[in-house]
Amino acid sequence: MGEPLFDRVAIIGIGLIGSSLARVIRRDNPETHIVACARRAETLEAVRRLKIADETTDDPVAAVADADLVVLGTPLSAYAELAKKIAPALKPGAIVTDVGSVKQAAIRDIAPALPKTVHFVPGHPVAGTEHSGPEAGFAEMFADRWCILTPLPETAPEAVAKMTALWRLAKMRVVEMPAEHHDKVLAATSHLPHLIAYTIVGTATELGQDLQSEVVAYSAGGFRDFTRIAASDPVMWRDIFLANSEAVLELLQRFSEDLTALQRAIRRGDGDTLHDWFTRTRAIRRSIIEAKQA
Ligand code: NAP
Repeated sequence: MGEPLFDRVAIIGIGLIGSSLARVIRRDNPETHIVACARRAETLEAVRRLKIADETTDDPVAAVADADLVVLGTPLSAYAELAKKIAPALKPGAIVTDVGSVKQAAIRDIAPALPKTVHFVPGHPVAGTEHSGPEAGFAEMFADRWCILTPLPETAPEAVAKMTALWRLAKMRVVEMPAEHHDKVLAATSHLPHLIAYTIVGTATELGQDLQSEVVAYSAGGFRDFTRIAASDPVMWRDIFLANSEAVLELLQRFSEDLTALQRAIRRGDGDTLHDWFTRTRAIRRSIIEAKQA
């Protein structure tokens, strides 16, 4: 098993992502001391029951004391305040990372608060489910998925290398890119699809009572897949749209133009346009399966 990557890890926000990472560390680096931090007593109680941390606390300042790695795993809107709070208690030389789904906002909210003596490696493990909380986590959630690191120009390469090694323990493929690029890519691959799912499910729930029960009964026709995505955590997704508004709004503009083009094709009975469009999208699905991301 070898030397653990970190002696002491503090995970602040131990929900789906934080607890899954704790499980990876437990599995592969059992000697690492894990401190879990959350606000609610039920969450900390669940962590103790699951035995995925050595210590639990609701105090982020106490959690980071002496930690070699601090992972922020809360919703994005908690970052700024947490970073300010923990900054004076961070051990010199420690690595601070986050797992947030929007990187420019994460950097904006965390970086200015941190002392120069710590290394900040912003990250985003692109893996998850529609469930939340420590019970929902599992170590294999990250396997074969991508983890995107968006280090700053001043981030020490050794710190990036250590975070790469940690996410590789989780069986992730790790890549580095600028935060701005990350936010554009994720707007297309994750944020827009979620917004569309939220819209479709919302529209269906506004239908009359009779139709509504039929939507549920016949949901296997396509609706069901959208309901899974639209069941994702409301706080997390509120934060994502507010934090990545620019990229999402730009993409929405293009999306609505494309939607209008399809609307026109349907109205005009233009089957060729529809057929061409659907043929192209089918090829995308094939390439996702070939890349083992299905
Ligand atoms: P989650 O399951 O809801 O967990 C969030 C955790 O943060 C909970 O333990 C919550 O515990 C704690 N928390 C919230 N505010 C806090 C605060 N102010 N101080 C301390 N703890 C606090 O969320 P998640 O799905 O793991 O997502 C966490 C982060 O990962 C988000 O930034 C999200 O963008 C990112 N992410 C999510 C996914 C996904 O698919 N879910 C994928 C990749 C990245 P209490 O409320 O009980 O205190």
